Amino acid sequence: MVNINDRESITDIPVEVCPYCSSNLLVKNGHRGNKQRFKCKVCHKTSTSSTGTSFHGLKKTDKFEEYRKLMFEQYLPIKVIAKKVGVSVQTAFDWRHKILSGLSDTAVEFKGITEIDDIWFLYSQKGRKGLQFSRERGGSKRQGDNKYQVKLLVTADRESNKDFSVAKIGRITKSDIARKVGGKFNKSCTLVSDKHRSISAFAKSENIEHVNFISSKHSAGGEFHVQNVNNMAARMKTIVNHQLRGVSTKYLQNYSNWFAQREATKSLLDKDLIIHQKMEQNNKAWGIFTNIEGSYKDFIVNQSERTYRCPTKRSWSSNLNNKKVVGGNAVAMLIFKLSTISLNRAKIVGDILQNKIQDEKTYFIVPILFFII
Ligand SMILES: [Zn+2]
Repeated sequence: MVNINDRESITDIPVEVCPYCSSNLLVKNGHRGNKQRFKCKVCHKTSTSSTGTSFHGLKKTDKFEEYRKLMFEQYLPIKVIAKKVGVSVQTAFDWRHKILSGLSDTAVEFKGITEIDDIWFLYSQKGRKGLQFSRERGGSKRQGDNKYQVKLLVTADRESNKDFSVAKIGRITKSDIARKVGGKFNKSCTLVSDKHRSISAFAKSENIEHVNFISSKHSAGGEFHVQNVNNMAARMKTIVNHQLRGVSTKYLQNYSNWFAQREATKSLLDKDLIIHQKMEQNNKAWGIFTNIEGSYKDFIVNQSERTYRCPTKRSWSSNLNNKKVVGGNAVAMLIFKLSTISLNRAKIVGDILQNKIQDEKTYFIVPILFFII
């Protein structure tokens, strides 16, 4: 087995297109760490194989590796894992979502008998600042499809293909299913579900063989049941609602990625390497991570009857594809930068006045310096 701590053993995947402007006019341009660096002839930006991945802009690599390994051993509360690894709670929180943003599985293809079902989680705004209540009351007692229930579509075949997709707040329709898992079914597929009208309609529209049964019977006989997705759904509910004490709807897709990844790799000896490689190959991670608030806004506006409120403000050192980050405050950043420049000027001028002015000549340098710096 390859030891991933030995960085030499990890193959450095060549960068084929510029992660900033998608041009393929790249030339080799030295190294960053032990990775080949490339320079783009179009936008002149440099990149390595970690640009855009969960490892993008990472400083404490060793701690990050330790953190990532712990994440796939157990579901630890953020404060506990922060203490174990020796990083701040904010860093631990950011790392969790940087890692999970790199684990979104888009290239799934279901084969053979494929089970599908939906589960729901209570709508939550846990951790969101500026709200009167962090969780609106009354949701848990209501039955059926309503604006308190966030629906997650769980699809899994009998091999290792799994998809956990946060689809909607309220009742799932045929088009929600198509948007999330449409086009992911192989010709050999037989879809199994309970009698959900939207699933039947979806299967018909995609020409997928479909076997369904009345919920109370739990099976259509023989192999045609949804026990695997039901068991996974129950485990995920326990983890989210009890071990993690509820998660914010904003991050529910990331938590689903975490759970799906652990389910898919739990019995594999080299899971560590598999997860690491997956993260190295996903150069969409940084973009997903820095746009979590934007994706959440889209979800609330387009997939629910709710109102999007109290945007979270964060800004990032680098945004790929020039994507505007929701919540990034450009004016505040400009003022901050300007004030840093003036501070530097004052500091340097102060230093000169204090220590270095030994003869009269330096008096001329001070005002010149002030304008140059
Ligand atoms: Zn470029």
